[in-house]
Amino acid sequence: MTQPVKRLTARDAYESARDYGRALANPTIRLGVTGLSRSGKTVFITSLVRNLIAGGRLPFFSPLAEGRIISAYLEPQPDDHIPRFDYERHLAALTSSPANWPTSTRQISQLRLTIDYEPLGLMRRLFGRRSLHLDIVDYPGEWLLDLSLLGKSFDEWARESIELARNSKSTEHSSAWLKFLDELDPTAEIKEDVISEGAALFRAYLQEARSEKHAFSTLPPGRFLMPGDLDGSPMLTFFPLELDEGDDPSSSPYMSELKRRYDAYVTRVVKPFYRDHFSRLDRQIVLVDALGALNAGVHALSDLEHALSSVLGSFNQGKNSFLSAIFRPRIDRILFAATKADHVHHSDHERLTGLLQNLTERASERAEFSGAEVKVMAIAAVRATEEAVVEEGGQELPTLVGTPLEGEHLGDKIFDGHERAAIFPGDLPHDPALALRHGRSGSLSSLEMDMRFIRFRPPGGDAGTAPVRQVIPHIRMDHVLEFLIGDRFS
Ligand code: GDP
Repeated sequence: MTQPVKRLTARDAYESARDYGRALANPTIRLGVTGLSRSGKTVFITSLVRNLIAGGRLPFFSPLAEGRIISAYLEPQPDDHIPRFDYERHLAALTSSPANWPTSTRQISQLRLTIDYEPLGLMRRLFGRRSLHLDIVDYPGEWLLDLSLLGKSFDEWARESIELARNSKSTEHSSAWLKFLDELDPTAEIKEDVISEGAALFRAYLQEARSEKHAFSTLPPGRFLMPGDLDGSPMLTFFPLELDEGDDPSSSPYMSELKRRYDAYVTRVVKPFYRDHFSRLDRQIVLVDALGALNAGVHALSDLEHALSSVLGSFNQGKNSFLSAIFRPRIDRILFAATKADHVHHSDHERLTGLLQNLTERASERAEFSGAEVKVMAIAAVRATEEAVVEEGGQELPTLVGTPLEGEHLGDKIFDGHERAAIFPGDLPHDPALALRHGRSGSLSSLEMDMRFIRFRPPGGDAGTAPVRQVIPHIRMDHVLEFLIGDRFS
């Protein structure tokens, strides 16, 4: 069994002390922004930063509503070794004419926003104006899955992974990978091309499991799904292997080699991510494309629940370790946000929140999660639609008006990416708990899932407004800010 935390002691203690010292001099919040691929991280960060810098409409963000925010501006980030979040490029995409969605997150990045503000009461008399550094750390949610590997030996991981593949629905890639395993002679002399083939088949299986068709069955290693800077690296050339009962592991060169590579992955990839990034976060937002899961089909809901328990499980890391005081993530607030809420009418936002609430509650139970304060909201970092009421057959239908993306279709109608349209998006299931139960058993009827999701173009810049003043329309980004950082301005 690997004992990952022991070897982190001195450096982690040093990092914690250094962070604490810095925090006293310059109050800093490290905000983690994560979520599975395409959940909306890039769009979220760009909108959040833009709305703070340009003074967007944020009435429920109390320091701004009280007129105590003086200015917000970007500064060089503290960690030179992490790529910078390409805010300017993403903003240019969103505000160009016609506007486009920015390129999505592929790896970790960071951005420092400094907010000058007037503190309250005594603090104001003592210190006058103050500055808060908001360090935003954007990272793929897939990488969180790897934290479960920290306490897992190769044998445990291999047993679990192979069992999961054998018990899962047989698919093209799972069958190909399992066939490869059955045919591999573990006592033969190692051939690099055989290891490469096994790793490629294993990766294809993992990617298939989380593809749109089998959405959200997200299994570690996370870098096999979202390699970031390790794309094409030999560090990702391994796969799980089990010997037959009674076989001697020392007689299997493949076994020792794969075990060595797995251990190297945990030591050189997973631990540094945990130590250098994850364990230093103060607050965390997890973005969830619950509407996308609904759209993908009923089974995707229970798969999403599975993925969320893995995510919540990672926030429990180190809980039972003797070094937990140092190593336990210090995150004290976690926000789960159902993104892209502008795809449904506002009268459905409560149902969307209810759905995610149900998902996270069950996920919390499974992950035995306790600790940080958790909140759930439905948001849109960028509001791409407006609401309108259309009369049809004497009935008033709440519709969404926007410009559907090129290629989106509704019945026979295929949109060209320029034409505006009013669309009735349908209704979310009335009872989220019931929808989830049906989702688990795969029996949600089409009546309860009467929805039509169309992807829209972002609204783009407003020709009448100077670029420096342009803000991004959103839904509830002020509530998000209030929960995540509002308490740090007293
Ligand atoms: P990432 O992979 O988590 O970085 O995801 P992105 O931020 O790139 O978002 C993926 C896609 O989701 C975008 O290209 C948009 O099509 C869509 N999207 C994200 N946020 C919103 C939103 O607030 N409103 C709408 N309508 N679409 C969004």
